[in-house]
This record gives sequence, C-alpha cells and structure tokens, in this order.
Amino acid sequence: MTKPGWRDLAIGAILEKGGTALEFKTGDWRTYKPIWSQEKCTSCLFCFIYCPDFCIEIEDGKMIGINYDYCKGCGICKEICPKQAIEMILERR
Ligand code: SF4
Ligand code: SF4
Repeated sequence: MTKPGWRDLAIGAILEKGGTALEFKTGDWRTYKPIWSQEKCTSCLFCFIYCPDFCIEIEDGKMIGINYDYCKGCGICKEICPKQAIEMILERR
C-alpha cells in the first residue's frame, strides 16, 4: 500500500486543539506576564506555533492579542519573537 506524501496531508492538521486545557484556566499560575506591542508585531505567528497553551489570538491571519486566561507566563513567545514585540513583566496580583 502506498502511503500519502506530505502534499496530501491537510494543512495545519498537527495544530488542532486537544480541548482538555479549556477546562483549566492556567493564567493564575503566572508570575511574569507577556506584554505585546502591536506596533512592532509583523504577525509572523511564530509565537502562535510555539505557545504551549494556544494563547496567541488570531483574526484574519493576524495576531490580535494574548489570552491571559490560559497564559502561564512561560516566556517562550518572547524568546521566539524575531521583532522583540513581546516583553515579560513581573505581574502583581
Ligand atoms: S512572534 Fe512576534 S512578530 Fe511574530 S506574531 Fe508573535 S509577537 Fe508578532
Ligand atoms: S508566555 Fe507562554 S503561555 Fe503565555 S502567551 Fe507566551 S508562550 Fe503562551
């Protein structure tokens, strides 16, 4: 049997949401909070790909913000951003 090539796979198939994290708002784990600069952002969406909690919000193919209900403040988005459009600040509660 011939296996399908990569061109036959659905686009973005590996990025589907698992669903379980929706039940557990992890934002209150956060010590550092990512602050996004819309002016610096080019919507390359690297942060969307790397965020472990799908917190990067997108509309019409562009980044529009960060979902703080689920953001744990890991800082991966800041490290991966090629435009320094995200900075991490200490969050006071
Ligand atoms: S990685 Fe940086 S430039 Fe790219 S979408 Fe995210 S914030 Fe914007
Ligand atoms: S700090 Fe971590 S969890 Fe929060 S948006 Fe960035 S990558 Fe996602």
